[in-house]
Amino acid sequence: MANALPQTPATNAGAIDNFDAIIIGAGVCGLYQLYRLRQLGLSVRVFEDGEGIGGTWYWNRYPGCRFDSESETYGYSWSEELLQEWDWKEHFSGQPENERYLNYVADKFDLRRDIQLNSRVKSAVYNEQANLWEVQLEGGQRARAQYVIAAVGVLSARYVPPFEGIDSFKGESYHTSRWPREKVNLAGKRVAVIGTGATAVQLIPIVAKEVAHLTVFQRTPNYCAPLRNSLVTPEEQRTFKANYATMHKRIRETATGFMHDFDPRKAMEVPKAERLARYEELWAQPGFAKWLGNYRDIMVNREANEDFAEFVRDKIRARVKDPVVAEKLVPKDHPFGAKRIPLETQYYEAYNRDNVLLVDVRESPIERITPKGIKTKDKEYEFDVIIYATGFDAVTGPLTRIDIRGEGGQSFKEKWADGPRTYLCLQSAGFPNLFLASNPALCNYTVCAEMLVEWITDCIRYMREKHFTRIAPTPQAEEGWVAHMDACASRTILYDTNSWFMGANIPGKKRAILLYTNSAATYRKECQDAAAKGYEGFVLR
Ligand code: NAP
Repeated sequence: MANALPQTPATNAGAIDNFDAIIIGAGVCGLYQLYRLRQLGLSVRVFEDGEGIGGTWYWNRYPGCRFDSESETYGYSWSEELLQEWDWKEHFSGQPENERYLNYVADKFDLRRDIQLNSRVKSAVYNEQANLWEVQLEGGQRARAQYVIAAVGVLSARYVPPFEGIDSFKGESYHTSRWPREKVNLAGKRVAVIGTGATAVQLIPIVAKEVAHLTVFQRTPNYCAPLRNSLVTPEEQRTFKANYATMHKRIRETATGFMHDFDPRKAMEVPKAERLARYEELWAQPGFAKWLGNYRDIMVNREANEDFAEFVRDKIRARVKDPVVAEKLVPKDHPFGAKRIPLETQYYEAYNRDNVLLVDVRESPIERITPKGIKTKDKEYEFDVIIYATGFDAVTGPLTRIDIRGEGGQSFKEKWADGPRTYLCLQSAGFPNLFLASNPALCNYTVCAEMLVEWITDCIRYMREKHFTRIAPTPQAEEGWVAHMDACASRTILYDTNSWFMGANIPGKKRAILLYTNSAATYRKECQDAAAKGYEGFVLR
């Protein structure tokens, strides 16, 4: 596949660098974690796989990539100066701007001097006697630290289906999450996109305008909803800046971590005409209002969910001219919101273009990739470029791809073989001083990430003040949390489909809820309560 990973630096065999803390990943979490640990006076090194910082916003530079969260809620909340200095240009900011923002933060807070780029962590091994983690990079370089903070993201381990013949293709191939930094010229080319998740839904309408011909290979249609992006006016900019404190207070209190919050009424208790009028109102709003501002039982009651799903299906049908194509694009096999809702701009209109073809791979499965293109059960399609928008080995993948060994040489990968095993999504028993800082909640990413980083920082501060050197959860606390995560998800409609939320997008991956689906505000409180009770559920030594 084109655009191979950047090379890690040459091995510095023998030398071992010592730090108080090692952070894996220089994305949204890692950058903030570095800032906070430095404030504690710790020596910190961040190892980042990429050639640049930004994590998700470094790697995902495919055409159309942008926030689905409102820009002003995605930016960091912890520096008033930063909030006042930074102008978001669009309500849902695009990747180039998001990458610029994170680089601006890194420069403003002088973070770069502790970040080592092109440094992919291969292993992290806990030395029980020394109470230290030894981290090794792909290039051989080694470093030791008391604390390791895995800020590896939840959607960073790309997934490419193991199609037969994948390497035989003679044209160009790209995975959306490893899109080249230099412009990919698609003009006049025959292009395939495999996948119709949130990524493909952003990419397809843009690519469709550029290419000679686009063929989209769809396995499961999604409930895509209009993003309704627009430029931020100077007046809106002033309003953001004047109201950040109020906004941040609110998004820490909502169930979703967004400005949107569920309507306290139950859908089917609202008279039909009023309910439909409300749906229209939500549909007209930007962002996730149609999902996270909907009736409170939409994610737990199948009848309520189906009522809104039918509303969305009609919206899709109304936008696609060919009724046969429209029906292929209408999801019928899973509830609304059971997969993350892709927010789109002119996605359905792309299928009204003469140069776009939709292939339903449930009707005609992909059999193999050939030197010329893609062979399905029915025919061989020829392409110049194949784009894999096939998603990620989510949540567990970024961690289990590192060889992490805890107490007694226990392998993290083996321990997590049946799904994530943590207490509070923050630590795993048997892996002392290893903190997981990537947002595992079904919530605005930065809002939750900041909460985790602050919890970890407070915990390390507490340990240093009280002269503790090790922290890990008890197996009982972990057992209880795993059951609690499962119980929360079981109450919802999330188990009704095969999404990355359940790890079910990866063949062979054990089906288990990967996200904590309770209210974001409740999650915050649960973490704070444990800390307030002297880190209840953890063993400190
Ligand atoms: P995804 O939602 O997992 O979608 C992957 C797509 O590839 C699906 O359509 C899937 O079909 C298809 N696929 C996988 N294996 C296949 C195979 N063997 N044959 C045919 N099709 C196959 O991944 P994503 O679109 O990259 O999105 C992942 C998440 O990233 C999103 O849910 C969201 O949280 C985040 N994201 C956010 C934004 C944003 O707006 N900020 C943008 C993009 C992504 P099935 O559905 O049938 O499995």
